[in-house]
Amino acid sequence: MITCPFVGLSVRRKRTNQLCCPIFSQLSWVEGQKPPLKTRSAPGSKFKEDGSGSRKRPLEMSTADKESHKEAASVKAAKHTEELPSGRSESVGHWSQGLKASMQDPDMQVYKDDQVVVIKDKYPKARYHWLVLPWVSIASLKALRKEHCGLLRHMHGVAEQMVQQCPQARSLDFRSGYHAIPSMSHVHLHVISQDFDSSCLKNKKHWNSFTTEYFINSQDVIGMLESRGRVTVREGTGDLLKAPLRCHLCRHQLATIPALKQHLKSHFPS
Ligand code: AMP
Ligand code: ZN
Repeated sequence: MITCPFVGLSVRRKRTNQLCCPIFSQLSWVEGQKPPLKTRSAPGSKFKEDGSGSRKRPLEMSTADKESHKEAASVKAAKHTEELPSGRSESVGHWSQGLKASMQDPDMQVYKDDQVVVIKDKYPKARYHWLVLPWVSIASLKALRKEHCGLLRHMHGVAEQMVQQCPQARSLDFRSGYHAIPSMSHVHLHVISQDFDSSCLKNKKHWNSFTTEYFINSQDVIGMLESRGRVTVREGTGDLLKAPLRCHLCRHQLATIPALKQHLKSHFPS
């Protein structure tokens, strides 16, 4: 049961048609919001803040150099297989299919409507990091076609609303975009605050995947799809992950991730 903050009514989540209920649709934005550990909370905010997080944050792989895609290795295995567009038969229990399990998990969902669901990234790389996923199964950017433009625009709109609902919307910058070469299957739009203040951000690949052209703005993807009917990725994009570590704000080059994190504190004093 959830109590409406406006009229004091209690609603039973599963029996409420949230699309028709403005109260519930408001609640559906806030339910389940549990920020990264270092988030400063905004008292009284409708955007539910919980510094400790009642849900245990899953631990990412401990070795700093491990690939981000191995993060999902602990995902609960599903029992059937499905055919991917490439023709490969891939078990949905495989780590790369982890988002499909998470998007169906009510504990992970932050917002949903008839077209998309928003979940919190399981290994957030910043204070706020969400993933917007369509219900319809689209394996990757490569599978997108012109007819998906409307869906991508909707995903973009939902991303903007997520940012607006965030208590730190005024003090933090956000970007919404796609990894050019994603590690996880099922198209997902990252919505991420630009503080990169997170213990889950551990290595150069993590950093460069969000701060180089490896990260393609949502609007650029939509523009590409509208004009060319396909999303293409420049040759050599994968090499961007090996680029030197540079601050995304002042372009200062840092030798190591700890040095970079120390440097970021000068931009984001706590
Ligand atoms: P990408 O490189 O665009 O495929 O990014 C995948 C994102 O999914 C990363 O930011 C991961 O932290 C996140 N992630 C990995 N496994 C899961 C999971 N099971 N549930 C939610 N998020 C996940
Ligand atoms: Zn800097």
